[in-house]
Amino acid sequence: MDLYFDNAATTRLSEAALKAYIDTEREFFANPSSIHREGMKAHKELERLRGSMASLLSVPSSSLFFTSGATESIAAVFSSLLMQDPGKVIISAIEHEAVSSWLRVLEAHGWKTARLKAKGGFVRREDLEAELTPDTKLVAIMAVNNVTGAIEDIKGLEEAVREYEARGRRRIFFFSDSVQALGKIPYDIAGLGIDGASFSAHKINGPRGIGMLYLRRPEAFSALSSAGGQERGKRGGTENLPAIAGFDAALGEWLSRAEDNRKRIQTLSLKIRHTLEQLGFQLFSPEDHASPYIISFASPLPSEVYTRMLSDKGIAVSSGSACSNNSKGEGERILLAMGFRSEAARRAVRISLSNGSDEEGVDALLKAIKEIGNG
Ligand code: PLP
Repeated sequence: MDLYFDNAATTRLSEAALKAYIDTEREFFANPSSIHREGMKAHKELERLRGSMASLLSVPSSSLFFTSGATESIAAVFSSLLMQDPGKVIISAIEHEAVSSWLRVLEAHGWKTARLKAKGGFVRREDLEAELTPDTKLVAIMAVNNVTGAIEDIKGLEEAVREYEARGRRRIFFFSDSVQALGKIPYDIAGLGIDGASFSAHKINGPRGIGMLYLRRPEAFSALSSAGGQERGKRGGTENLPAIAGFDAALGEWLSRAEDNRKRIQTLSLKIRHTLEQLGFQLFSPEDHASPYIISFASPLPSEVYTRMLSDKGIAVSSGSACSNNSKGEGERILLAMGFRSEAARRAVRISLSNGSDEEGVDALLKAIKEIGNG
């Protein structure tokens, strides 16, 4: 029975990922940049892993760059703007702090910014079109929201940007933070035509501290920090080879059974939703166009109190977004941008599932929720 329901924050390392990590650390301990035989062996393994992940994602291996996590992938893209003349950046108001915090930096450097509201969870194409200007250089809309699971219409939004580009022969970089999409919804990166995306291993039972940056046209991208020249100058620093192997193993596992797992998780998700509705709790997660892995609702008590009560019963959920409890109020900011009232947002609790979630665990969670009732 699995009573851990905070999988959008992080997941357990899978046995396959752990094994790949340990085996790689033992076998390929050398620095992939060293030119001796052991170094070359490690370099070959690094490129084999990149190729394996690229084929899992159906993208060219030259488009993938390993980083220390999604936050760093995002930072690589946003910090690169500082080397350009200031223009305009448009993001959704429901982005993770890893994206939204960059707007303050860019504003301090003379950039214009816009934050698009997302009523009910979704960014509207008309709102994006209304903000596009000749000096727009970057648009960033997340694929799946980490608080509610809302799946954004990335294809439609990206098309709006391309149509605008075509009218004025401009180039706008379309970025999508895809952390909560990877493995959890059908996600065809190349088919979407986006220019950049961020991924993280620890949301899909991979190791912490390893992520990926996808760049559709890497040759057009200059990183602010390329010290060391690794990752073809896009991300300096010695590559974390064992963690990359763990990421590859975790992604392989997720994608090999993606459809079956999604169906199973959808059933569990619906069961949770129905119970919450029966209890009269307001749901923040949309019914349609949402990841089954995330269900957010307004609990009858302040988020922290309710989360603690469930924790006392051995059940882990999170209050609001709480990817990090250091950024309190983040979940509330996102729910307000979706049009929910702040009084309800302060009672937000997020249940997030993973492929290890089982019916027994969900039943125990729902029993505990019923026991707490209205507090
Ligand atoms: N973006 C989203 C949507 C997330 O949920 C997270 C999770 O914390 C991040 C970015 C940051 O990822 P990482 O921990 O790999 O830096």
